[in-house]
Amino acid sequence: MTTKYVPEPFRIKMVETIKMLSREEREQKIAEAKYNVFNLRGEDVYVDLLTDSGTGAMSQEQWAGIMRGDESYAGASSYFKLLNAGKDIFDYEYIQPVHQGRAAEKVLFGLLMGEGEFSISNMFFDTTRAHVELAGARAIDCVVPEAGDPTLRAPFKGNMDVEKLEKLILEHGAEKIALVIMTITNNSAGGQPVSIQNMRDTAAICKKYGIRLCIDAARYAENAFFIKQREEEFKDKSIKEIIREMFSYGEMFTMSAKKDSIVNIGGLIGIKNDGDLYQQIKGRTISYEGYITYGGLAGRDLEALAIGLYEGLDEDYLRYRIGQMEYLAGRLDEAGITYQAPVGGHGVFVDAKAMLPHIPYYEYPGQALALELYKEAGIRSCDIGSYMLGNDPDTGEQLHAKFEFTRLAIPRRVYTQAHLDIVADALIAISKRADSVKGYRITWEPPVLRHFQASLEPIK
Ligand SMILES: *Cc1c(COP(=O)(O)O)cnc(C)c1O
Repeated sequence: MTTKYVPEPFRIKMVETIKMLSREEREQKIAEAKYNVFNLRGEDVYVDLLTDSGTGAMSQEQWAGIMRGDESYAGASSYFKLLNAGKDIFDYEYIQPVHQGRAAEKVLFGLLMGEGEFSISNMFFDTTRAHVELAGARAIDCVVPEAGDPTLRAPFKGNMDVEKLEKLILEHGAEKIALVIMTITNNSAGGQPVSIQNMRDTAAICKKYGIRLCIDAARYAENAFFIKQREEEFKDKSIKEIIREMFSYGEMFTMSAKKDSIVNIGGLIGIKNDGDLYQQIKGRTISYEGYITYGGLAGRDLEALAIGLYEGLDEDYLRYRIGQMEYLAGRLDEAGITYQAPVGGHGVFVDAKAMLPHIPYYEYPGQALALELYKEAGIRSCDIGSYMLGNDPDTGEQLHAKFEFTRLAIPRRVYTQAHLDIVADALIAISKRADSVKGYRITWEPPVLRHFQASLEPIK
């Protein structure tokens, strides 16, 4: 049975023209891009599912806010509007804007951890891991085992493995664990949600051992929507009530506002009530980002973010948003194409290992499928697998990732049902001739975060 598409709770009054190049042109463009999707120009892509970060469409209210933005260097009214929105939604005393999520990580983590210490998360996002390591500490993933099986349908595959968390704390010593980070939704595991019960259990362990709990909050609203649907206790609560409950278990948060807050740039740090910590954050923000009341953003960006924080929690919007994922996933179910199931909040993570079993991890099945999608229909996606993971820093050997996903991240309020059908049709066409798809080899790579810059070539 086909999953019904949830109609858009908006209509369109500004358009951006896109066009599909011919297959010949696409093959030429991707070869010129050295088979790296990050080297493609946006104008050469038809449906761009590279990321849901900063790619959303702002509303008429947000665009009106852009015109009202107060560009005062200090004390802008847009800053106070943003503070009020942040305090109201999250119920935290201190809110600090920064230019994006990784800036929040840079400002905060340097204050909380150093050499010889550890940070444990249900799963680190790549920049979050990088900032733990830049602060001198080591990052440890601790997700529930269900996350490792793409075909196993469980309601909260993003959860922290709390038993393992306690074991890790005892093994390394509580005084060595600088910070526990709960990523909601769990991006790296496929946008999978975390339950309130799991947040309670994690917070209780943190409290028992005197360890601080930070929320990596990029997709706070999508996580709340899943809780409302899947966690009995919260079925009659509003999204805002659920968000306040989620955030009550953390002491601080970092947020990329380019996701659920539907702005093209922005980030936040939130501190529940530790005034001394906030004082230190202000100092580092001034050094790294800009004065406290703009934090690396223009006044107009602060204004759009203050509005977007509320729009992101509108339930009609969230139903449509998650509905898009479920629609696309439903079309793949009908065709027998596997993905991280049930589908997560911001995209479909297609199991490229299952579709292309003849391509070994060191020839990058996730990347091969992403490149095939571009050649097939001008769709840009990306690898979340061994290609992205890179080499062991000590031995230089290619690491073997747990998953080989091709991620189709869906921008917010941007594409229609017909666009999603083009994506599903392209995947189905490729799956029918899967054994003709070839692997790739890397011809040049930088030492870190190689997937952004590497050059590849197809294996003959
Ligand atoms: C996007 C993201 C970040 C980093 O945010 P940027 O705005 O890209 O710097 C951190 N954590 C998670 C979970 C994210 O999805």
